[in-house]
Amino acid sequence: MQLYTKILIGMAVGAVVGLLLGPNSLLLTHDVYAIRDASQIVFQQNPTDASSRVQIPAGVPVQMRLLETRLEQHPDLLGEEKAVPVWAKVRFPFSQRLALADQSGHIRQQLGVLAPDGQVEGWLQISRTPLEGGGFAFSPRPISRLGEQVIDIVRPIGQLFMRLIKMVVVPLVFASLLVGVASLGDIRKLGRLGSRTLGLYLGTTAVAVSIGLACAYVVQPGQFIDPADRTVLLAQFGAAAGDRMSAAAVSPSMVDTLLDIIPTNPIDSLTSGNMLQIIFFAIVLGVAITALGPEENASVVSLFEKLQNALIVIIGWVMALAPYGVAALVAEVIGTSGISVLTALLVYGCTVVLGLAIHGGLVYGGLVRLIGRLSWSSFMRAARPAQLIAFSTSSSSATLPVSIECAEKNIGVSNPVASFVLPLGSTVNMDGTALYQGVAAIFIAQVFQTDLSFGSQLSIVLAATMASIGAAGVPGAGMITLALVLTSTGIPTVGLALILGVDRILDMFRTAVNVTGDLAITTVMAKSEGEQLTLQSPT
Ligand code: ASP
Repeated sequence: MQLYTKILIGMAVGAVVGLLLGPNSLLLTHDVYAIRDASQIVFQQNPTDASSRVQIPAGVPVQMRLLETRLEQHPDLLGEEKAVPVWAKVRFPFSQRLALADQSGHIRQQLGVLAPDGQVEGWLQISRTPLEGGGFAFSPRPISRLGEQVIDIVRPIGQLFMRLIKMVVVPLVFASLLVGVASLGDIRKLGRLGSRTLGLYLGTTAVAVSIGLACAYVVQPGQFIDPADRTVLLAQFGAAAGDRMSAAAVSPSMVDTLLDIIPTNPIDSLTSGNMLQIIFFAIVLGVAITALGPEENASVVSLFEKLQNALIVIIGWVMALAPYGVAALVAEVIGTSGISVLTALLVYGCTVVLGLAIHGGLVYGGLVRLIGRLSWSSFMRAARPAQLIAFSTSSSSATLPVSIECAEKNIGVSNPVASFVLPLGSTVNMDGTALYQGVAAIFIAQVFQTDLSFGSQLSIVLAATMASIGAAGVPGAGMITLALVLTSTGIPTVGLALILGVDRILDMFRTAVNVTGDLAITTVMAKSEGEQLTLQSPT
């Protein structure tokens, strides 16, 4: 069986495991509360006695097993009497982390815990957020303990795979770019290739955002969001969205971002994995090595070529693990996403995927057919291994080694062009991310009924195009730069909470498009350099 068929099967198995056996499982009983920050809850030893309330320290996660639920008759917003949960009797171990946070030992004493890891029992208050259409959203919500355990077992397999691929990325980007630049052998050729590549990367990104905006205006996903879902989503993801906004708030200004591309200490850039700095240094060093002349530079180039080849051999080994790694990664994402969020945001999610499909078919299809002179379906087949790895890892950077292999082996791009264009693309070119930001911005504006002028739409296109350069090729990076896009146009950033629940899943689709874009443009660049391309199906 071909490797990528096995990867596809791995993805399907992962999705089924996540859906049926994950924390939000459709099959398993939801019997625990996984509370990330205990300071956000009210915990009492006796529900009728507020003086028995115990303040559990902030920042300590606790997993509380659900023993029983106390219901109360309550008139809901439509005036009907309904039994709603008010208190849940729970049990949890007084963990080492709780003991550490309780330096004075006061809480332990109050709770009567004798030994570390001793069990605590008490009542957890269930808070209700009224919904506009009637009824309430309850928090926290129970999940399946067994499902959590399944994901805890599966998670390290995915992490193992991710870490093994990431291990190769930094040395590969450096070695590839150096070899790529030095083998071009001519600074004018490098300048031409570099400027055309950047022009195409930025041009296709601006088109992608515009397609995203157009799709959001035609489909109007904001009209499909129920007021009740809106309240639930804002309550459920508000805190996590706040984290993204704080991350965006500390991001540097445009000038600083540009200046930051130049490393003050390239070794530091390599150890911290700062891709733009590594790219800059590798290009400058590659040019300098070229300037030494063919006789002097031959040994350096050949050394890095050998290093590049050895790193590709490692990737070949790691790919044997891909079907299992991919299954684990997909199971984790699907298992922790929660089906109710997916259904509430179905139209929004479909709008993003529709936009991505249009962009792929029209823009990349057009470029590959018209300039690359290749069949679109054969190109897609040749790019499939990279697309599958991008989809399951949600990381353009982690996919880079596989993209380089696809470009050289399956599309027939020369090593210098693939080694130059692809590492650049994995950081700079993110059409899928930019398109998703366009849809997300309009979606949030529609939900909050914010009117957008033509100027605001133009600034979304500009901001999302610039943001796609700055965003790192790692999972969730697009969500942080989306906060910057929203602020630049005056769309409420709290809206991030609306879309956070499906972000991880949409990340898979947009990363697959980001990587397809890198490969399509590499193909076009190779053709424009007069290379003969021959497509081969992956093995
Ligand atoms: N995960 C994306 C990538 O690596 C970036 C993003 O959209 O969050 O390309």
